Amino acid sequence: MADWTTADYHRYKDQVVSAYGWLCHLCRKPIDPAMKGKQGLSLDHVLPRSQGGQNTIENLRPSHLLCNSRRGDRPIEEYLLTEQDKTDWFFGLPN
Ligand SMILES: [Zn+2]
Repeated sequence: MADWTTADYHRYKDQVVSAYGWLCHLCRKPIDPAMKGKQGLSLDHVLPRSQGGQNTIENLRPSHLLCNSRRGDRPIEEYLLTEQDKTDWFFGLPN
């Protein structure tokens, strides 16, 4: 399986955002298009690449970089059940 690269991100991000909007599928909060870094946009693989997930629009969703890295390679169902209620504090910090 090929690595997921910055070039892949740029290749897919416009399509993914136009398909799903600027909304993090992990924490369900909006993603600010102007934001960079941990609260900026990343593309999360619904089925992780390590488990055979492909680089397709169907398998990619917008997410905050922070949420994406917190999830890692865990199954999406497990992440949503165990972590979704704990993410609020990340967004309550002063800038
Ligand atoms: Zn998020």
